[in-house]
Amino acid sequence: MGYSKSVYGRADRILSERRLTAQRNADKAQQSFYSAYPIAREIEHKLTHTFTNIARATLSGDHEKLLEIKKENLELQRKLAQVYALAGISEEDLKPKYTCSHCNDKGNVDGVACDCYINLLKQIACDDLNLRSPLSLSDFESFDLSYYPEECRHKMSNILSYCSNYAENFNSNSDSVIMTGGTGLGKTHLALAIANEVIKKGKGVIYITAPDMVSTLEEYQFGRETEESEVTPKILSDCDLLIIDDLGTEFLNNFSKGAVYNVFNSRITRGNPTIINTNLTIQELEKNYTDRFVSRVTGYCRRLHFEGSDIRILKKMRGIK
Ligand SMILES: [Zn+2]
Repeated sequence: MGYSKSVYGRADRILSERRLTAQRNADKAQQSFYSAYPIAREIEHKLTHTFTNIARATLSGDHEKLLEIKKENLELQRKLAQVYALAGISEEDLKPKYTCSHCNDKGNVDGVACDCYINLLKQIACDDLNLRSPLSLSDFESFDLSYYPEECRHKMSNILSYCSNYAENFNSNSDSVIMTGGTGLGKTHLALAIANEVIKKGKGVIYITAPDMVSTLEEYQFGRETEESEVTPKILSDCDLLIIDDLGTEFLNNFSKGAVYNVFNSRITRGNPTIINTNLTIQELEKNYTDRFVSRVTGYCRRLHFEGSDIRILKKMRGIK
């Protein structure tokens, strides 16, 4: 199972609402058209008749009759087109306008899930998860370079520009990133600022701390998840951007190391970008995690190393919360 039951339920409800709204609007448009132009209904009835007669005449081989009915049919089509022109609409305007013209908002075509349904599931699952994260707290504008010592400011300014460009140009081919550096240097701030911008582009973004990710995956793995469980291996692999904050603060054991590796590796395999934040140095990562994880991270991630003094302490000193 990929997502929680409630995610599927809500996606199905949204699709059925889209379908009903499209059909209701089409019904309304048809009613007002036919009440203003009742002749259209008459012509359409006659047209239906001629189609049946064409089929009959074709079957009986009566060519003369067939020609006669075809002529009548063309004449009726011409008249109907005139009525539409008079009303200033086309036949298409009376048909339901579905959000997805591929599946007509059914969510599947011949039993195969439509992309619109897959994206909807992803969007709902990400929205759910982000309800409990501090996403709304950070943007690029509030990232204050004046907190950084003179000697680090240029480097941090480059990091800020990189992150802001990253967010602006985010797509499925974007790099994965590892942000390293001590506590309180603005890693979470910039990661959340990226998340906010990417979400505005309509992408599915998940921000989660490493301890939360590991504990929910543990519940999932050992079957303790409830039907409403939101974090599933599927959404962690499939979301457009996954941000794992505070890597290294989770309880380290074989399960957690394997879980972190599996999530990151499955995203690489799918070509989905990940942002990892950690207070650990690369040497500490090597000490705490498996070689294959560290080699994946260093091989696939662009590294942004944050420098400076703990901004939270500086803010306290300046009396800013
Ligand atoms: Zn569709």
